[in-house]
Amino acid sequence: MSTIAFIGLGVMGRPMAGHLVAAGHDVIGFNRSPHRVKELTRNGGRGADSVAEAVATAEVVALMLPDFPDVEQVLEGKDGVFARTPRGALIIDFSTIRPDVTRRLAADAEHRGFRYLDAPVSGGEKGACEATLSIMVGGSTEVFDQARPIFDVLGGTVVHVGGAGAGQTVKAANQLLVAGHIQLLAEALQFLDAHGVDPATAVSVLAGGLAGSKVIDTKAVAMIENSFAPGFRIDLHHKDLGIVTAAAREAGVVIPLGTAVAELMAAARANGDGGLDHSALIRGVRRLNGRPVT
Ligand code: NAD
Repeated sequence: MSTIAFIGLGVMGRPMAGHLVAAGHDVIGFNRSPHRVKELTRNGGRGADSVAEAVATAEVVALMLPDFPDVEQVLEGKDGVFARTPRGALIIDFSTIRPDVTRRLAADAEHRGFRYLDAPVSGGEKGACEATLSIMVGGSTEVFDQARPIFDVLGGTVVHVGGAGAGQTVKAANQLLVAGHIQLLAEALQFLDAHGVDPATAVSVLAGGLAGSKVIDTKAVAMIENSFAPGFRIDLHHKDLGIVTAAAREAGVVIPLGTAVAELMAAARANGDGGLDHSALIRGVRRLNGRPVT
């Protein structure tokens, strides 16, 4: 069992830290908004008032933060992880951030004597709560093997996909697939509705055919019922599609549908839907069709 500093106790980090406590680890949590830390301490974890306090005795540092500036600040800031964690510690970044930033941070961490893995996840809040996340890991095989017991507490599917940054690259592809799928599901629901076919009945048969998917299983009912509490916020998916489009351009890869979906995600945000679940892309489809947005 390890002493684990867990930084970022939001939608995903809170249940993940809870599972590590339940597995017997000594988990010390820190979050920018302190009420999140109280939830961890109520469940048997320990709380810290700063990053420095959380990492002071850590053997493992886990990060689950919104975006790369947050990760950079927590790792590289004065009194941050690099400055205050005992050398040799294993740093696992579960956040979804830019692959190029990850490669730089991993090199910096290793130069300073730390072990480093990027380990973004898929499966949403449900996967985090049920410990069934898909975890895509970048870094050395040796360090991956050392971290495996921690991943197994949190995930159902854990795969080492390559060197530093490879986990983030796979996660970017995941976000491209999910966004495109939600957008097409939203368009299909609008189409069904316009033809007077009950969308819920239609989805129940679509889900059993080739078009069936986890996106349909987890999002369709909420979309039909206009229930858009996050979940995964449009703001975060907008961030991820920025990663996808930039990384595709960097590699000289053309992603026309991905680019279109990125624009539609940006439009959702511009229309004030950034705080809603990404299934609220259907609100944009309704706007485009001159239908009421409920
Ligand atoms: P969230 O906003 O709910 O949680 C992030 C937490 O980090 C917040 O509680 C915030 O207060 C805290 N935080 C931010 N900056 C901080 C700092 N400098 N120091 C300490 N705490 C800080 O976000 P989330 O939904 O948990 O997502 C976290 C990451 O996981 C993101 O990169 C997201 O893209 C990714 N992700 C989210 C989901 C999902 O369904 N929510 C699924 C897969 C991946």
